[in-house]
Amino acid sequence: MNNRTFTMIKPDATRNGHTGGILEMINKAGFRIVAMKMTHLSAQKAGEFYAVHKERPFYGELVQFMSSGPITAAILEKDNAVEDFRKLIGATNPAEAAEGTIRKKYATSIGENAVHGSDSNDNALIEGDFFFSKLEQF
Ligand code: ATP
Ligand code: MG
Repeated sequence: MNNRTFTMIKPDATRNGHTGGILEMINKAGFRIVAMKMTHLSAQKAGEFYAVHKERPFYGELVQFMSSGPITAAILEKDNAVEDFRKLIGATNPAEAAEGTIRKKYATSIGENAVHGSDSNDNALIEGDFFFSKLEQF
């Protein structure tokens, strides 16, 4: 399956009141929301979600940040969803993000970069199932 991806609106964007603006950009780019919830990750859950980065120097900071406030988690549907959504969010570092991308508009730093986007079809499925039961995926 290559038509679904997973996203989170991160705690910085939630705090700064950008949830509505980001969802509008997502919809305008042609993604359909097929699951969505607002939640607050514990440090343990944030650590599990980003376990692939466990050995990286920024892991502790990342876990602390991702558990610092509420997020909005969502599964998005569109042809070529994973790749197209990575294009829509832009580079990890907002200083390198292209014009018109979500991170260019809303991210404040490489750590606090407004949104998450899955990096592969396999991870999109794993990440969607991390937050949503099959009954909550439409
Ligand atoms: P995400 O997985 O959240 O969509 P990404 O795929 O663009 O982001 P990754 O390399 O997977 O980037 O890093 C995961 C997250 O870890 C980044 O979004 C960012 O919040 C944080 N991060 C990455 N590199 C750094 C860094 N050098 N310093 C601080 N935080 C970082
Ligand atoms: Mg990533």
